[in-house]
Amino acid sequence: MAYHIASDDRIIQAIRRVFKKYRQVSSQTRLKTLVEKELQTKKKNFQVTGARLRLLIFLHRLADVEIHTREGDPRKILTRCPVCTGSLTRVKNQTIWGGEVTLEFRCKNCGYWTGKKKRIPTRYVFHKNTSK
Ligand SMILES: [Zn+2]
Repeated sequence: MAYHIASDDRIIQAIRRVFKKYRQVSSQTRLKTLVEKELQTKKKNFQVTGARLRLLIFLHRLADVEIHTREGDPRKILTRCPVCTGSLTRVKNQTIWGGEVTLEFRCKNCGYWTGKKKRIPTRYVFHKNTSK
């Protein structure tokens, strides 16, 4: 069976429909399944990657995203946000009692942050947007 690539607009509409039905979607895999089901027509099946779903969700504020992480290799250098591919900004935090400076990287797009011990995203939980 051949799969088709849906346009951004159609995916956005499908995501909106999913969150009209569900208050919470407990993983990216589950969200992908639900969105693909919404996109499906009698003649065509559509496929969408998890990364593309996340990107559209952040870009258009379609849902609130809870990011679960595990500790990663401190030597690994992150140049792009692992969640949304946005650029990471270096933030230096001076501890109250002077001395030690901790370095953090933050993404302005999605709120992801990491310290020296890298926080590697492992799971996403999507919540229906409460601000709407
Ligand atoms: Zn990000």
